[in-house]
Amino acid sequence: MRVLIVSDIHANLAALEAVIEDAAGRYDGVWCLGDTVGYGPEPDACVARVRAMAALTVIGNHDWAALGRMDVEDFNPEARRAVVWTRDHLSAESLAWLSELPSEPTQHERYTLTHASPRDPVWEYVLYPGVATENFGHFTTAFCLVGHTHVPALHILVDGETKARPMQPTFGQPMQLKPGWRGILNPGSVGQPRDNDRRAAYALLDTEAAIWEPRRVDYNVEVTQKRMRDAGLPERLINRLAFGW
Ligand code: ZN
Repeated sequence: MRVLIVSDIHANLAALEAVIEDAAGRYDGVWCLGDTVGYGPEPDACVARVRAMAALTVIGNHDWAALGRMDVEDFNPEARRAVVWTRDHLSAESLAWLSELPSEPTQHERYTLTHASPRDPVWEYVLYPGVATENFGHFTTAFCLVGHTHVPALHILVDGETKARPMQPTFGQPMQLKPGWRGILNPGSVGQPRDNDRRAAYALLDTEAAIWEPRRVDYNVEVTQKRMRDAGLPERLINRLAFGW
């Protein structure tokens, strides 16, 4: 099966639509790695899209926060304002759907899906090889798909080695995941990239052939920024989209 992998949409509908258009005809199903809402101006529309198209979705920390399951004091002031705004702009139906999403890693064939890390599904950031290496003991499939960092990444554990190797994703280039490899793969963020590239990030995965293709697509950032401004969302969250940070 060819799967469109999306993560960290963060209520950015313009970015999500650009991804869907760019990936058109290249996938048979959709998996979502969480944080569908939070930060952006269209949480309800993004939930509706993901709900309609994704066969598998896991919960992210911002979805969790929007449900009021945690103390928003753990967020910085701007994120906190966005959380409260998001909560007020989700329909009862969307909140009910978010509340049903699994918070434990979900396994599908050779792949485990989780928002943050297999060891700590909602919170841990897998940014560095050390953390990645420690996490290989916390899932049993060959590959684990994560989001949360908003940075596209591949951490590969080659058979016989004890430390994960970071591999640089090359956008638009399919990459063969070799037999004997295990990996923690991050498609990056659709709606709020943090690798100094403002384009929406996502990935395509051919589950049988084990081919991972990281991709980027430009979208109209100004449209999302205007919608955020109209909604009264914090200026710093609006500005960062232009820089991909
Ligand atoms: Zn996120």
